[in-house]
Amino acid sequence: MLYYCSGKPSAKRVSGHLWTWPKSRLLALTGAGISVESGLPTVNDEVAGVPLRSLFEPWIWEKRPLDAFRAYRQMVRDWQRKRPNRAHLALAQADLPIITQNIDGLHWAAGSERVIELHGNLRELRCPSCAGIFQSALIWRSLLPSCPTCGHLLRPGFALEGEQVRHIARAMDWLGEAHGLLVVGTELQMTPVRTLYEIARRRNLPIAWVHDHAEEWVPHLLGQEGPVDSLFRPGEV
Ligand SMILES: [Zn+2]
Repeated sequence: MLYYCSGKPSAKRVSGHLWTWPKSRLLALTGAGISVESGLPTVNDEVAGVPLRSLFEPWIWEKRPLDAFRAYRQMVRDWQRKRPNRAHLALAQADLPIITQNIDGLHWAAGSERVIELHGNLRELRCPSCAGIFQSALIWRSLLPSCPTCGHLLRPGFALEGEQVRHIARAMDWLGEAHGLLVVGTELQMTPVRTLYEIARRRNLPIAWVHDHAEEWVPHLLGQEGPVDSLFRPGEV
């Protein structure tokens, strides 16, 4: 069962079938679309004169680290001012485990406690030499922050193109325990989220795929909006 949610939710458009979902065993899979209402830039925007897209490419960190870190500092400044929106807050209130492609940290900021950040985050820097992980506050001490352990130039704590995503084994475990999947704000074009989705389809899990207006759909689907009680009547299947 796949419920595709696009446009504004309304009583007519939300299926009563979703009431039968075991909401305690739902797993959320989120991407950039969930943070749109929080005002985050997209990969097509520029940060401090650097295309955001380039910051996810290894070459800029190797060939132009000063530019890369200048843009990174601006990203951290901008991101720290952003706040979770109703979609993040609804997932946190429902206490759902979340697998996200986002590096913005807004699921943590919303209060979610079980979050897998597949592509890493902006809170940390990592050392490509000794694999140490450090708080990103080191960027305020030096234009080119180096590893406190071995002295190597640090890299951002998010995955660059061609690098492995994080915690995929744990993500698979969470999917194995799920009885339903709530996909929000991702086109599922990239692995491994595409793979997670395909496994859920093969297992015949009920899936709601929120394409847009996440801040309206997610609270509706989780029964946290006023009208939803009348929409999701048990037994109305
Ligand atoms: Zn190191």
